[in-house]
Amino acid sequence: MLKEVCALIESAQSFVLTTHARPDGDAVGSVLGFAHYLRKKGKKATIINCDLTPFNMEWLPGAGDIQHWDGSLDQIRAIAEADVVAVMDANAKNRLGAMGKSVVDAPGVKLLIDHHTDPEGWFDLAYARESASSTGHLVYELIDADDPSLVDHAIAVTLYTAIVTDTGSFRFSNVTPDLHRLVGDLIERGGVEPSEIHSTIFDRKSPESLRLLSRVLNSLQMSHDGQISHTVISRAMLQETGASIEDTEGYVNWGLAIEGVRATMLFTETERGTKVSFRSQGSDHVHKWAQSLGGGGHPNASGAFVRKPLDETIQMVVKQAPRFLDLKAESAGEDELSAEDQAYLTMLQASPRNRG
Ligand code: 5GP
Ligand code: MN
Repeated sequence: MLKEVCALIESAQSFVLTTHARPDGDAVGSVLGFAHYLRKKGKKATIINCDLTPFNMEWLPGAGDIQHWDGSLDQIRAIAEADVVAVMDANAKNRLGAMGKSVVDAPGVKLLIDHHTDPEGWFDLAYARESASSTGHLVYELIDADDPSLVDHAIAVTLYTAIVTDTGSFRFSNVTPDLHRLVGDLIERGGVEPSEIHSTIFDRKSPESLRLLSRVLNSLQMSHDGQISHTVISRAMLQETGASIEDTEGYVNWGLAIEGVRATMLFTETERGTKVSFRSQGSDHVHKWAQSLGGGGHPNASGAFVRKPLDETIQMVVKQAPRFLDLKAESAGEDELSAEDQAYLTMLQASPRNRG
């Protein structure tokens, strides 16, 4: 796989690179790192993304050259004329937003560089490994297999950003000794300043964003005897705090921070339905759960979009937990009650007639 991809990179001249909707640090960092490498080898590399770069990544070297997909003739031509269209950090057409069709129909070689489960079948060649910490990690491997001396400041900073964001600052289970060695190499060769990158990415929050976080934390609900938790972002919460959806990166993880919680969901209300983000730890896997709703992702971090209103989606998804996780038996009685019955019971208990 590695040899074939390296041979393709050697023989091709023009590349279009793209990544998933609502790009995160791994998405932006890996397309930029790969583009810098290709350009250093004298190749033409054009990045076209379906969604804008998040504001806290705009400083990344080369971010200003990323094109935002507008379906213009120039962009359609760039995709049609590229020897290689590289899809990075995403392995399904519906993750590419409005660009999906043009990418799938591209006449050039469709190359996948990715670490998600169950890739779709339309790629011609793939450098993909589920166990890789990040797509940035895989890009590093490609460069390392070719010529590690090509790693310069721009490549190192963009790939470091990709890796640090997708590993939750080196704390998820996808972190290995090899990854630390690789990161050591990036720091050394590229003169990366880890503390600067961390503070730029993680510590630049707006007041609106923190106000929203307080509302999100306040929405926390526990179920299944404390083994499942969920939080909510409604459209009203966004409007009232003035925060934007980009401000919500990482909020889902708070639901996992409670002792005993095996999986958490963050439900985000949108105009067309509800985005569900799943997070879990260790052997509690949530990707099948997300897949059952038409989404996907990684065993411990996945997502789906449900075309139903917020409350209906929450009710439906939370109830499904025992189908996808091997939960400990709940205290007797509670699991017999539907949410509606539980609400009725609570109302009865709270009514004045029941207060002696
Ligand atoms: P997040 O919850 O941060 O949006 O996404 C977590 C992971 O789940 C990401 O790695 C992403 O690739 C995957 N994911 C999120 N939403 C979707 C979706 O709608 N479809 C698929 N296939 N994967 C998703
Ligand atoms: Mn990733």
